[in-house]
Amino acid sequence: MSSTQGVSAKEEIKRAADIVELISQYVQLKKRGRNFLGLCPFHSEKEPSFTVSPEKQMFHCFGCKKGGDIFAFWMAYHGTTFVEALKDLAERYNIPFDEARVGAREKRAALKRQQLLRVNEIAADYFFNALTQGHEGAKAREYLSTRQIPQGIVEDFRLGYSPNSWEGLTRSLEREGVDLSVAALAGLVVARKGGGYYDRFRGRLMFPILNVKGQVVGFGGRALGQEMPKYLNTSETPVFHKSEVLYGLHASHQAIRSSGRVVVVEGYMDMLSLWKHGFKEVVATLGTALTEQHVRKLKGYTSEIVVVFDSDEAGKKAVLGSLSVFLNHGMVGKAVVLPQGHDPDTFVNQEGVERFTSLVEAASPMFDFYIHKAMALGDGSEEKVRVLEEMLPALAQLRSYAMRALYVRRLSDAVGLREEVVWAELKEYQKRSRGRSGASPRLTEKLSGARVSKKYNRDIHFLNLIVHHEEARQRLADTDWTLLLSDPVMQRLAKVLMDRGRSNDVDMDTVLESIQDPEVEKELREIMVMPSFYGPDAVETAIGEFEQKIEEIKLAALIREARERGDMVALNEALKMRARLQAPNQTNS
Ligand SMILES: [Zn+2]
Repeated sequence: MSSTQGVSAKEEIKRAADIVELISQYVQLKKRGRNFLGLCPFHSEKEPSFTVSPEKQMFHCFGCKKGGDIFAFWMAYHGTTFVEALKDLAERYNIPFDEARVGAREKRAALKRQQLLRVNEIAADYFFNALTQGHEGAKAREYLSTRQIPQGIVEDFRLGYSPNSWEGLTRSLEREGVDLSVAALAGLVVARKGGGYYDRFRGRLMFPILNVKGQVVGFGGRALGQEMPKYLNTSETPVFHKSEVLYGLHASHQAIRSSGRVVVVEGYMDMLSLWKHGFKEVVATLGTALTEQHVRKLKGYTSEIVVVFDSDEAGKKAVLGSLSVFLNHGMVGKAVVLPQGHDPDTFVNQEGVERFTSLVEAASPMFDFYIHKAMALGDGSEEKVRVLEEMLPALAQLRSYAMRALYVRRLSDAVGLREEVVWAELKEYQKRSRGRSGASPRLTEKLSGARVSKKYNRDIHFLNLIVHHEEARQRLADTDWTLLLSDPVMQRLAKVLMDRGRSNDVDMDTVLESIQDPEVEKELREIMVMPSFYGPDAVETAIGEFEQKIEEIKLAALIREARERGDMVALNEALKMRARLQAPNQTNS
């Protein structure tokens, strides 16, 4: 039990933890002014807008608006519930943690995840024992020895074998008191039509898939005979998402960080082979192409991602698919293609790790790789047009004009088409595709972009002033400040602040926690993380300017109404007032 009365575990963790220290274990951060900046692990970007504020103990991404405290980060990054985050962080910072206080719904979700992880853990042990001890495991042991996988790797990666029986795991789970419906949810057993359950993985070499925390979230099973499919994965569960998971990351993330690069392969055995040869900055997708989520995850560790394509399927299509994933993230993905007939496993076993390393070091950016491949098919005018058409979607996704210009030039050079032709085709393509995604940019995109709409600009400046300067909040609270704001979210936020603003000493953290509207919460967090636009000397002037602006808006309304009514006396009076207001050097009488 906690000895500190009246202080929640949450508070204690907040006191003990430092958000910069915590986040920098997952995201590369650089100090920029008062804050730390990095590439956001939650959305695609090439210019860092993921901001961590040591003063506020808060993170906020100006791109995707994700943000919050250390708990919010932990939940989003590790995909945990709040309760799990509390628990994990309490453990990390040695804080006693009383579970009884947490909400019932969160508790249920956390319980489900814990149950799934526990079932997976039991199953992993069962498979491991079957591989290392069972007589049935002989076939799998033989397979591993022909693939030259040493015992150390079997242990570190907890490899296993699923015996070729219908109820081996099912009975074993029953003996452990596991609710088999949970095991079914975990994708380990399958419900029979007539009741009861049977094993889903049978006669397969088992690869437990661990998250960065070292928990077993799912399994991959490789057939040892001719059974289909050759690879069987756990289906999607609350703890396992195939398009996000990277096999081996739990073991390799430190090597990735220290070497500054990561090599991505497709298969479990490819990953393990490279690891065995001492090449440790490696992960595997679960037999799929690299997804946006993968890149997002890896970006927290390194900015250099090298994808290895097997020679027999190194179609330019696959590279082109990955190319757009990288361009979307503003990253230069590199491609390695292995000699004909090789995969990473056979290559490193036959040719050695030095040759593999030199291939990785000589990897070309995917763009060059694609052009090279495409042009190898011929350079007649038909091929040129086809290459151009295939490249257009990737080019159109480049957000920076400078980079687009660079690639247009490189493409026109490589293909032998005039730059104007490429530009014209690109514009045409963009026009065609624009109709589909015409969403208006969010507030902060406008802010960070060159064109800041004047209205929003005022909203942001006003909110910045009243968040960071209490005297401004108090002075402006009694004016018609609502006239200044055009964005409904900003209006709601300002209202929350102004309602409290009359009292002294508003604690922004408390305000933030009390806001129930996520949109409003995001905006407030953003403004809190951004420094004040106004130095001590500028606050007074800013208040005066806002006051004047309010008067101007009111007068403009009076003038409009007077015109509509045809009331020349009132109109004249209002026009005179406006003239006085806009000429501050004149006397006011
Ligand atoms: Zn983001």
